[in-house]
Amino acid sequence: MSEHTFEFVSVTKFYGRVRAVHDLSLSLHAGRHTAVLGPSGCGKSTLLRLLTGLEPPSSGTILLNGRTISQSGDVLIPPHQRGAAMVFQDLALWPNLTVQENVALGLSGSRLSRQDSARRINEALELCRIAQVAKRLPGQLSGGQQQRAALARALAVRPVFLLLDEPFSGIDLALKAKLLDEIRVLTAALRVTLILVSHDPSDALAVCEYAVVMDNGTVADQGSMPELLATSSLEPLRTFRSVQQIGK
Ligand code: ADP
Ligand code: MG
Repeated sequence: MSEHTFEFVSVTKFYGRVRAVHDLSLSLHAGRHTAVLGPSGCGKSTLLRLLTGLEPPSSGTILLNGRTISQSGDVLIPPHQRGAAMVFQDLALWPNLTVQENVALGLSGSRLSRQDSARRINEALELCRIAQVAKRLPGQLSGGQQQRAALARALAVRPVFLLLDEPFSGIDLALKAKLLDEIRVLTAALRVTLILVSHDPSDALAVCEYAVVMDNGTVADQGSMPELLATSSLEPLRTFRSVQQIGK
């Protein structure tokens, strides 16, 4: 399923009177790991929610392979039919369900037989190396294990796109480097395309070849990661570059 392209055409999203995304146009291609960078409040999480179909746009159109999947107030194709799975910023694990049950929940929209579901769940737990804690509640896991449980839930659906919303906030640097490595290996093995939301260009540089910089609800800049690091005057790239200069 390498032909998988999401296209946003003049998408605007209001929450009540707050305009979170404004006249945004953007294409996201399978096979091109893309970082979404930009300051807090610029609309990054909203972009992901629109892509997955958790929210309808207020105006504009979202297409998947040329077919309209959301437009002006309507979600036409539901989240589980879009080939995109998301790991939420707060992970959104159910505290009263075991790891295994949380992962199973990711498959509830699919029409798999009980046997196939069980196989998928075990596979995801193994891939994310949390099979040994499958029967525990999220509260009985370390931060890294919670992170992996949320990742397993997303990967169990075998998405084309894996959307990670600031996955490393509140995680120490050593663990972050380890998780970045694991994500790189997993996405290559499973041929999953990453959409990584971050405010840290160094995370993006570690796993993404392309980046979109958002500002005030819209796309302000985009290009290959090295190109943007060298040229973009936008935050957070500007600060990243000046810190690198100081380090030289
Ligand atoms: P980011 O992820 O880049 O920090 P968000 O997409 O979360 O940005 O938010 C963009 C803007 O929309 C912010 O001003 C935020 O306060 C607002 N916003 C986000 N979600 C909601 C919501 N559910 N209700 C009202 N305002 C929201
Ligand atoms: Mg956010």
